[in-house]
Amino acid sequence: MCGIIGYIGKDKALPRILSGLKSLEYRGYDSAGIAYVKNKKIIVQKEVGRISNLEKKINLEEDTYMGIGHTRWATHGEANKINSHPHTLGKFTIVHNGIIENYQSLKDELIKKGVKFVSETDTEVIAALLNENYKNEKDILKTILKTTKELVGSYALGIICTDDLEHIYATRCGSPLIMAQDKNGSYIASDVPAILNYTNKYYLLEEKEIAKISSEEIQVFDDNLQQVQKEMHTFEGSVETILLNGYEHFMLKEIHEEDTAFKNTLDYYVQNNKFKETMPDFKKYQSIHIVACGSAYYAGLVSKYIFEEYVNIPVKVELASEYRYQKNFYDSNTLVIIISQSGETADSLASLKMAKNAGIDTLAIVNVTSSSIAREAKYTLYTKAGVEIAVATTKAFIAQVTLLSLVALKMAQREDLLQEFKGIENYIQDLVNRDYLPYAKFLYQNNNIFFIGRGVDYALCLEGSLKLKEAAYINSVALAAGELKHGTISLIEDNTPVISVCTDASIALKTISNIKEVKARKAKVLLITNEDINDNFYDYKIDLPKLHPVVMSIITVIPMQLIAYEVAKLRGCDIDKPRNLAKSVTVE
Ligand code: GLU
Repeated sequence: MCGIIGYIGKDKALPRILSGLKSLEYRGYDSAGIAYVKNKKIIVQKEVGRISNLEKKINLEEDTYMGIGHTRWATHGEANKINSHPHTLGKFTIVHNGIIENYQSLKDELIKKGVKFVSETDTEVIAALLNENYKNEKDILKTILKTTKELVGSYALGIICTDDLEHIYATRCGSPLIMAQDKNGSYIASDVPAILNYTNKYYLLEEKEIAKISSEEIQVFDDNLQQVQKEMHTFEGSVETILLNGYEHFMLKEIHEEDTAFKNTLDYYVQNNKFKETMPDFKKYQSIHIVACGSAYYAGLVSKYIFEEYVNIPVKVELASEYRYQKNFYDSNTLVIIISQSGETADSLASLKMAKNAGIDTLAIVNVTSSSIAREAKYTLYTKAGVEIAVATTKAFIAQVTLLSLVALKMAQREDLLQEFKGIENYIQDLVNRDYLPYAKFLYQNNNIFFIGRGVDYALCLEGSLKLKEAAYINSVALAAGELKHGTISLIEDNTPVISVCTDASIALKTISNIKEVKARKAKVLLITNEDINDNFYDYKIDLPKLHPVVMSIITVIPMQLIAYEVAKLRGCDIDKPRNLAKSVTVE
């Protein structure tokens, strides 16, 4: 998920390392750090959060011509300064992407030998092992080879050693690493965007190969320490093509990442059907205000049904742009939950500050680490959706619904229901891989589309409808199904498309009656359901698996996201950057 960059050459190193790190930001990270050589000494600097936090602390003009940089996505130990990379033990300073599976047994052995560790990371164990093996091997290449033979897991490593400040070493297994050279020096990097400002020529480091780079030369050795010749590759595309990874649009790519967004979010808070320490308990609160904008507001609405059902306390969901200007009745028993993908949404931030100033406890549900909302809130829980680039949110919505459901279950002390989350990523994959083009063809020439549902299905309809507006520029209206006959049904005429979501068994029959009402007025109905319905009151049907209600809404939205995507494509819309919209709404 995270990034490595290393530079050695004739130019000052820190601007290159920083720009390399920034172009790897898309991989997601929670802290960043660098190690550079100055006056024959290795200096390490690291900061939690954005690369800009690190940038503020360093002098880009520093007289250094060699260094390694890292963005960390914490796997072993929380995202704090001590656990951030680079890690130094003895003569070795390293950066690492990946996971060392046997780190605990290696660490136990090293502790017996008297090694003292300061971090909780698996990475520090690699540094210690290098340092230990070097005592016998006395040669850096041999030391790296011996060390990697003892590691089980995945790694891309950037290594510097105080005994050789003329080279950066690198090796990999599982995690990617490339090397490159321009007239001013040599680079290692986890991905091509990190070097594209300087060159589009690069070499791929193969599994278990070891690279030794100096200002003028890149040498690569195999696992017998024989030097190997590398083939040079040229990258002709744009950074965007790399980031798209073969997908036509970021929206589609991000929908295909929903299984991972779900799983990463779940695994961050839950292990073996038990909550981890990362999930605090909010059970002292007697009421909840959920405040957000756009899709995050709809994720909040979905979660209202879960909080109320399982925690049994009143939940009010408010649009931040309204909440901040209205009279709010809260007290010390109220928890104000602010949801925002970017963590910078202006109205949500203002609402948070307002609650905070009134002495009310706040919880931020945010995707971007160390964003303003994350920093301001009393408690912050991160969705682990990874970087989202498409303006219309998809995977972050799924991660928000997942995390809010987990918060509710923790409050409700319903650990027994965590087993329902097991394997949901497989259902997500199945839904993501289906063909939605036939439904898109039925919809794309219409300028008015209606969504109807009840309860949580209504909340999901609102999100489905927003996706069509944002991505496909279609005026669509989502209605609580029972509300239809109080006005809007007058708009239903021959062939008006109506999408109905029906997953809540307790009110399915009521929704079906409403579908029949629009059908009687010659609407064309697409039914999205997990109910076993075989009747003739719909024209198209998408079958969903029948999951426990506590996880059902995580997957129900997927067909609507993909239909919006396909419709937008048929209409030739600018899918990833819809007109008039911005990813992070920092204006009121
Ligand atoms: N496993 C290492 C850690 O938790 C590296 C994580 C990464 O790939 O950034 O520090």
